[in-house]
Amino acid sequence: MYKKITDFIRTVYNTDDFIPLHKPSFQGNEKKYLLECIDSTYVSSVGRFVDMFEKKVADYTGAKKAVVTVNGTSALHLALILCGVKPDQEVLTQSLTFIATVNAISYTGAVPVFLDVDKETLGMSPDSLKGFLNNYSKMKEDGCYNKLTDRKIAACVPMHTFGHPVKIAEIAQICSKYKIELIEDAAESIGSKYQDKHTGLFGKVGIISFNGNKIITTGGGGMLITNDQELGVKAKHLSTQAKKNHRWEYDHDFTGYNYRMPNINAALGVAQLENLDMFIINKRELANEYSGFFSNLGIGFVLEPVGSYSNYWLNAILLENRQDRDNFLKYTNDNKIMTRPLWKPMHKLRMYENCYAYDLNNTEYIEERLVNIPSSVRI
Ligand SMILES: *Cc1c(COP(=O)(O)O)cnc(C)c1O
Repeated sequence: MYKKITDFIRTVYNTDDFIPLHKPSFQGNEKKYLLECIDSTYVSSVGRFVDMFEKKVADYTGAKKAVVTVNGTSALHLALILCGVKPDQEVLTQSLTFIATVNAISYTGAVPVFLDVDKETLGMSPDSLKGFLNNYSKMKEDGCYNKLTDRKIAACVPMHTFGHPVKIAEIAQICSKYKIELIEDAAESIGSKYQDKHTGLFGKVGIISFNGNKIITTGGGGMLITNDQELGVKAKHLSTQAKKNHRWEYDHDFTGYNYRMPNINAALGVAQLENLDMFIINKRELANEYSGFFSNLGIGFVLEPVGSYSNYWLNAILLENRQDRDNFLKYTNDNKIMTRPLWKPMHKLRMYENCYAYDLNNTEYIEERLVNIPSSVRI
């Protein structure tokens, strides 16, 4: 069975060499724009590619405003600050996520609370969110509080795992009912839509990552997207040391951050964005081939959830149990095919093991079985 799978992956990628999980693809204007950027000498924090990249991502996603940052984690940190998250407050999120989500929450001094995911989306379950809030929240004049800890529940951060949208409209409705700010970790889901609306735009603010392993990359980079113009302007300000605009004076009105994306990274981003739709079509074809193959074998393959359009950033299969998963990981990696298990869930990490975790049955089920398989664009 494992041999059948590795043989199939080899035919899909048409190679006997090492097959990575996800490699970047540069076949458009990347070199041209990079050279142009170097020739201009504006390689650092100001330059026309920065403005262009922000404008183009705003247009692409349909956001009113987009603000580039040095990486996705810093974008998330800024998003939380801009939503008013403060030390000793709580932020609801999913345990099944990449560490960056939860680290960004910790940078604000707030405490994460871990909710479960849905099996069909791999992202935050509206039922888990509702269940937790029904059981443990109380409303006060200034918002929602956790009855167990008496801390304010300031924000909720769902994540669109592997590019597959969560049931975000339902989550947005619940957050709005309980007066909790909604921030979407759309790090993995540029190009993915839920009911025809781009992920990241259902709450107050969303973030995207352009790290090297993502569907498009700027080397390292991130972006906030929002329909709140004022929040966007504040994000830009905070990301640039909160420096007031002036031709020569140094004047700052907040403790800001140096979270700006350099122009040279933005140049790469502009070129990558030009190819994003082609990448997504290509990845959806790949997912379709995988899906047919695995369904014939009776192995679970993760499909885009109903009502959504996924960028299929990383493909995933679900094996029988932990033993089967581990055997498969060993076999494929021994045979020069890169596969990876899911991230260790956040509630099992030393730093976060004492945080409140609300009934994580699906998280544990998926952790034991899921394996990511090669997903690079084939062009
Ligand atoms: C990649 C990623 C981020 C941000 O990562 P950076 O490497 O800082 O750009 C955040 N959350 C999730 C879920 C991610 O996959």
